[in-house]
Amino acid sequence: MKRCKDCGKEKELSEFYNSKSGRDGKYAFCKSCHNARNVQYAVNSSFDKKAAEKKWKMEHPGRQKRYFTKCYTQGAPCFIANALGITMTQLTPELLELKRAQLEMLRLTRQLKKEIQNGN
Ligand SMILES: [Zn+2]
Repeated sequence: MKRCKDCGKEKELSEFYNSKSGRDGKYAFCKSCHNARNVQYAVNSSFDKKAAEKKWKMEHPGRQKRYFTKCYTQGAPCFIANALGITMTQLTPELLELKRAQLEMLRLTRQLKKEIQNGN
């Protein structure tokens, strides 16, 4: 068992991806937290933050920017709803999964492209 540094839950070692640099050969974050981070990364790199922030402000009148930032940095559902052009209430777990999968594909495509460009 190992405690995830992100969600703080004790999980089986199989719930952690292998890492070459980790002391125990595993990442400090569990798989689901790890994936969430990847989604966050994909979200961060594939969307115009300013445009998203503007849209978010219109959809959340009176809410402060830091809520957007919190939502944004967590790669959170409300950001994904934003990316889909729907409101949080319209966001279903299926849509969330779909978008996450799409973002993961996007990330992998980018990675592959980079590798091809590097001649690997
Ligand atoms: Zn975790």
